[in-house]
Amino acid sequence: MTRHYINTLPRDTLRNIGIMAHVDAGKTTLTERILFNTGRIHKIGDVHHGNTTTDSRSVEQKHGITISAAATSCDWKGCHVTILDTPGHVDFTIEVERSLRVLDGAVAVFSAVAGVEPQSETVWHQADRYDVPRLCFINKMDSLGADYLRCADMIRDQLGATPLIVQLPIGTEDSFRGVVDIVSMTAWLWQDMQAREVAIPQEMQMAASDARSVLIEQLADLDEDCAMLWLEGQDVSAEALNGIIRRVCLAGQAAPVLCGSAFRNIGVQPLLDAIIAWCPSPFDRPPVKGINPETGAEAERSPDVEAPLTGLVAKVQITKFGPMATLRLYSGTLAKGQNVLIPSDMATERVGRILRMHADQSQDMDMAQAGDVVSVTGLKSVKAGDTFCDPKSPILLDGLTCPDPVIEAVIEPVSSTDQEKLGSTLANMAREDPSLRLSSDPETGQILISGMGELHLQICLEELFESYGIKAQLGRPRVAYREALTSVASIDHTLRKQTGGPGQFARIKLRLEPPHEGESGLVFESEITGGSIPSDYIPAVKKGLELAIQEGPINGFPLIGLRAVLEDGAFHPNDSSAVAFERAARDAFRLAALQAKPVILEPLMRVEVKSPAEHVGSVIGDLSARRAQIVGTHQDKTGHDITAHVPLAEMFGYVGKLRSLSSGRATFSMVFEGYSKAPTNADYTNKQVN
Ligand code: GDP
Repeated sequence: MTRHYINTLPRDTLRNIGIMAHVDAGKTTLTERILFNTGRIHKIGDVHHGNTTTDSRSVEQKHGITISAAATSCDWKGCHVTILDTPGHVDFTIEVERSLRVLDGAVAVFSAVAGVEPQSETVWHQADRYDVPRLCFINKMDSLGADYLRCADMIRDQLGATPLIVQLPIGTEDSFRGVVDIVSMTAWLWQDMQAREVAIPQEMQMAASDARSVLIEQLADLDEDCAMLWLEGQDVSAEALNGIIRRVCLAGQAAPVLCGSAFRNIGVQPLLDAIIAWCPSPFDRPPVKGINPETGAEAERSPDVEAPLTGLVAKVQITKFGPMATLRLYSGTLAKGQNVLIPSDMATERVGRILRMHADQSQDMDMAQAGDVVSVTGLKSVKAGDTFCDPKSPILLDGLTCPDPVIEAVIEPVSSTDQEKLGSTLANMAREDPSLRLSSDPETGQILISGMGELHLQICLEELFESYGIKAQLGRPRVAYREALTSVASIDHTLRKQTGGPGQFARIKLRLEPPHEGESGLVFESEITGGSIPSDYIPAVKKGLELAIQEGPINGFPLIGLRAVLEDGAFHPNDSSAVAFERAARDAFRLAALQAKPVILEPLMRVEVKSPAEHVGSVIGDLSARRAQIVGTHQDKTGHDITAHVPLAEMFGYVGKLRSLSSGRATFSMVFEGYSKAPTNADYTNKQVN
């Protein structure tokens, strides 16, 4: 049965929320409890038993981490909340970035014991980049060592944010049983997972009213209305305070901090109230920006149902019914059977069914509107991160920065009968996850798979087996080196071949330059004006260079980027062709690149280690032996945080080494930082490490 349900809701009652956290902070448990408390599921699932609703993929259940940003939705007090579950592991950064693009607000979950952890920092700063308003939820208040106020301090000191204490915990650790709401000056107590609103306990009244004064004073610094009320010494009503908190939260000036225990189902309902009260609706968000792909002119779309259709593909999943794309609509409407333009390919595709997803259930819709997050069938060739739009009003939204893979390995089926299936399945997986790339080893013809880290490749292998029944194995991982030119080189090259019949003639004068800061790939410019090369052949020169930069002059590693200027050239009326100019460009690059002082670059990782004090010496000693540059240390009562830049080539097997150095007590995380010049004496002949 088709239901229209969501389309009848006022648009300002929509919330598209992400839940972001360090692995193990309790994101999955919290999502589950939200669905339970909103009546979406009737039985509490527990991640220990591997049956939670958002982690529906078996690989995720085994690792206990949420890999795919599954969208699920629920209703709370007249609002429709869509939850996009963001991945917690930094190996999946691109998925985090993609989900930050398509959500409007986020709940950052922290463990009350561990506080701000390295990965929460990474994700927090990513959310800063996308201007996503945030609430903080300090989870695990029932655990030994839980400390709510210390976490709020860490949010201020380590994340540079302005935390707003809007709740106080009632009891702590084992005795944690409720929260005081500083805004409404009431309290909530939980017993046997049931919530009860009560008066603030006598012994906490003083602390609560002090906290309220601090909150109002803090808000007075951020908001003029609040400053007026405060200066006049007036009491600020709960309603006024809610409005002020919403304003500062939406402006990204401060983040309200709440607490609870997802595991014991404490604090979840007030968190839902806070999401409704303080997180933005899609219509509170600024216009999305992009370009008109036909003219290159800047373009933007406001969150408006009447504006032309614009949206982003948040996710693609290849299911047994064909590809299923999760879409975020920013403007306009999308109807069943409608044609949409995918401007990156200039292709038009027809939308099949439109579905509202709730983890593993779905609901058919006739149409979706600006602000909605829905899944659709029928879009056969889209990739995660693609823009889609009204073919009559084309727009290409600012691209997602999909980082280049840093690691690669040969992948082979255990049984040769799976060879063909392996290739096609991997191709589908790469559409679901554009940070996974495929190529073939030029010498052996084997399939090479590249990605963002060892775990990324490992999980891909497990998914092949568990979701597709293909048993495969990885060769030793190799670092994905790059090459770069460091100076300018010019060349005047002529291709001339006469083999009877029409010959091949092309002359090009090229200038090669290192890329500018932040550029990647080929930036090509033609200065040809007087027709010394016919305009039909100029794209062939560009194509030749695009192919050429896949193989650098030193060791055949791809170039990180190149600026090339076509200055002049010549052609022959009978013997010139596009093929000749393409070939000439490739040859010219090969000859000129060696003169442009090429270097080999290696991926450099930002490594954050958290270690107990007694192991810090050996952890740093070991990092130094790995050519690390220590860029920061920080100490608090939970131990030392060491931040270092380390070449990826030195990081293989680090998990095991760190475990043995610290008797299993130190932890680390690693993200790609950038490329740096590799040592000249290294042996890259087989690119292998270890
Ligand atoms: P995720 O990796 O962030 O999705 O975290 P999970 O939801 O999988 O939780 C990680 C572990 O912490 C699991 O063993 C949970 O049972 C446990 N956990 C989650 N929330 C709480 C909590 O509020 N209190 C306690 N004591 N444990 C929790």
